[in-house]
Amino acid sequence: MNSSMIGKIEKAHRYAKEPERVLLHSLESTFHGGHDDHTVGLTNGHWHCTCHAFSSHALGTCAHVMALQQMLAQMLSEDDRFSGDDLAISSESMQVAN
Ligand SMILES: [Zn+2]
Repeated sequence: MNSSMIGKIEKAHRYAKEPERVLLHSLESTFHGGHDDHTVGLTNGHWHCTCHAFSSHALGTCAHVMALQQMLAQMLSEDDRFSGDDLAISSESMQVAN
């Protein structure tokens, strides 16, 4: 392996420990929920989920979206980290809700 490739690999290892370097704009995922798999994603600043709670409560969020927001917090913009489209949920209010 040549030295420039070694340098890139070392840099990648360093970057991989710094998720705040990455800002996600969109994603699509399969979330293994308690009973079913759900498709959860972020498109143009709007979260979506195929679960029943997401479509029936009109909050623009659900447990799966909130879980992803926590997992990916360092790689999301301030808006995408806390939306629901209509509801800002702070980490404090989520703890109260639990
Ligand atoms: Zn959901």
